Amino acid sequence: MSNKTDNKPETKSGGLAEDVLRQAGKSDEEAGSMGKIDRAEDELEATLDPKFRTENSPVHQAIWNRTTPVSLFSVPNSATAGNSPAQVAIENCIRVVKGHIAAGTLFDANRKVSDQVLADLAAQGYWGMLVDKKYGGQGASITDFMNLVTRMAAEGEATTAGLNSIHECIGAVDPVVGYGTDEQKARFLPKLASGEALSAFALTEPGAGSDLTAVKTTADPDGEDFVVNGEKLFISNVAPGRTIGLVCMIPVLDKDGKPKVGKNGAIERRHAVLIVDLPKEENENFKLVNYPIHAVKHIYNRGIIFTNFRVPAKNLLVPPVGDGLTIAYHGLNRGRVALCANAAGVMRQLLGSMVPWSQYRKTYGEPIKMRALVKRRVARVASLIVGADALRDWGSHLLDEGYRGELECVIAKIYASEALIETTRLALKTHGGRSFLGGHIIGDNLHDFFAPSIYEGENEMLAMAFFKSLIKQFGTKYMGPMLAKSAALGINLNQSPAKVTLQMATRPDKAFKMRKEILSVVGRALGIETRFSDKQKVRGLDGRLQAHVDFALSQFVKNGKDLYRTMLTHGLKLQDEQELMVDVLSMPIQQAVTILVTALHAHAKGDEGTKLAADLLCMDLRAQITGKAVKADGKTYRKYIRTANKLADLVVKGEFKQLEGTLDTPVLRQYDGNGRTIAR
Ligand SMILES: Cc1cc2nc3c(=O)[nH]c(=O)nc-3n(C[C@H](O)[C@H](O)[C@H](O)COP(=O)(O)OP(=O)(O)OC[C@H]3O[C@@H](n4cnc5c(N)ncnc54)[C@H](O)[C@@H]3O)c2cc1C
Repeated sequence: MSNKTDNKPETKSGGLAEDVLRQAGKSDEEAGSMGKIDRAEDELEATLDPKFRTENSPVHQAIWNRTTPVSLFSVPNSATAGNSPAQVAIENCIRVVKGHIAAGTLFDANRKVSDQVLADLAAQGYWGMLVDKKYGGQGASITDFMNLVTRMAAEGEATTAGLNSIHECIGAVDPVVGYGTDEQKARFLPKLASGEALSAFALTEPGAGSDLTAVKTTADPDGEDFVVNGEKLFISNVAPGRTIGLVCMIPVLDKDGKPKVGKNGAIERRHAVLIVDLPKEENENFKLVNYPIHAVKHIYNRGIIFTNFRVPAKNLLVPPVGDGLTIAYHGLNRGRVALCANAAGVMRQLLGSMVPWSQYRKTYGEPIKMRALVKRRVARVASLIVGADALRDWGSHLLDEGYRGELECVIAKIYASEALIETTRLALKTHGGRSFLGGHIIGDNLHDFFAPSIYEGENEMLAMAFFKSLIKQFGTKYMGPMLAKSAALGINLNQSPAKVTLQMATRPDKAFKMRKEILSVVGRALGIETRFSDKQKVRGLDGRLQAHVDFALSQFVKNGKDLYRTMLTHGLKLQDEQELMVDVLSMPIQQAVTILVTALHAHAKGDEGTKLAADLLCMDLRAQITGKAVKADGKTYRKYIRTANKLADLVVKGEFKQLEGTLDTPVLRQYDGNGRTIAR
């Protein structure tokens, strides 16, 4: 086999997560699995310039540094101006899809995006937006790409937008661009960019979804090939002849290049990504599994069964450090921003559908657009759109700058997929019974609008991952040494703080031996405790928005204290407190970040509609963080209603510029003055 040496022997080290879990009495399997994920994270971080690592990311700095680097939460208008070299291709792609929608030819007989559409888009450079020009791509920035995704979902069709996110963010393009050798890039990128080979990402298995360490598909070296055996499930966009990024388990090699055998007699394995050209037809080694699935309905989603399926060994991607999980994590961050971008487009279509209907439908002699409850829904959806736009632009800009974006992309994904569900609910109420008609945007796509909360990581699992990334540096640098020392001295920290203190008091000799570690934690704690406030005026910022910026900055000061105090008081027990991690710590931080990013986005955009929407969203988010309903305080409530009414009126009058270009949605089952149906 040509590149045996690329399959590096694994160096095992426990790492903080694994050590903590073991000390907390977790099983070897759980501690080992979490340790693996933790190490993959570390290895990915190690490949980055230190200034782009998570510990230097905007969110990490906001929580743990003395002041929030406010400028890192805004995006210069020049970055989103839409005047990139790829702009012509972008406009052409949107035109192609609009043309097919108008002609009724977007979907084939199976109601999937048709091969003709895929080919027409290929001719316009759609599938190579993020690929360098030297390989036949468009060389677009991530910001341009994500704006294209939103526009395609708003002005064209959301699945067609999603297909390119699968192909370029999580499919084969990102792994090859990020981790391919020159030879692999030259071999794969031209056909991926031209659309000759569309791609998919095959990670999930019947027994492995949220738990990526449970992957069982194996790839064993044999001559010049790997021989693959296993089953994949839920793979979007997979079809014969396509190219997939396959996550599988390859043997760990010893120093002689032989597979290592573990204590249980089984071959030790590690994650890997193979780029696999699927055969043009199914055969005994490669079978697709079809099952009924409701989301995402206009693309194929299937299982794959590999039986002694051969893949050239030269298709193995070898990251400079780490393994297949390192590669998978890289693409997932882009995929998460793309998901936010797609939701921003779909929410535009939903809001766009609410406007003509609320003007058309009269009850008790008045169009429902006049009703306060309907206005509030219209305004709320408009505000959710502006939040998604803000997070999309911010996340993309950070990725373009070189940041890993782990924390920031998770915020964008969770926010947008939850916003899409809420928008669906509000639009559904507004459309009444017609929501459930065939041909109605909601009736036809309900499952599609819920699915983003699950794929690319279920939201609460991601919220936990966000929390863990955020506390990791504090844990490793300060808590880790203390835990290691206490374990060595036989002090049990896996109990209540009172009991730990008692233990220390009764064994002052041991406590003394830990003085360096304890003082280090205390020193850091003092630094955090003496951060009293963080007031920063943003030049020219509207007073309404400055108040939200002030709130977010004061939250970050509080969040830092909450985080480290919780770590100290809960100690090793914290990893079992999932609700605390998600509801009390992770989500409020994400909401405060969303406030800051949205306020600064509205400032940069400058128009009144965006400012009203940002103001409204920030009021809602503040109420969620403080647990104090907007209506609890009369003055705030009146302001909220005033803002919502102004925004709704502006949207209904056609002055909400975010809706420009959005596909028209017809009112279904229109009727005449006699109450008789006149159209559709
Ligand atoms: C429409 C669609 C398209 C998809 N496309 C792809 C694709 O192209 N490629 C691909 O590889 N995959 C794809 N997937 C799979 C998707 O990524 C997984 O469904 C997702 O990661 C969740 O995994 P799971 O379904 O196995 O859920 P599970 O892992 O079974 O989790 C179920 C629930 O248990 C909870 N849970 C699990 N573990 C814990 C824990 N430790 N603590 C607390 N709660 C826990 C989760 O939060 C979740 O709510 C797709 C899925 C869908 C629905």
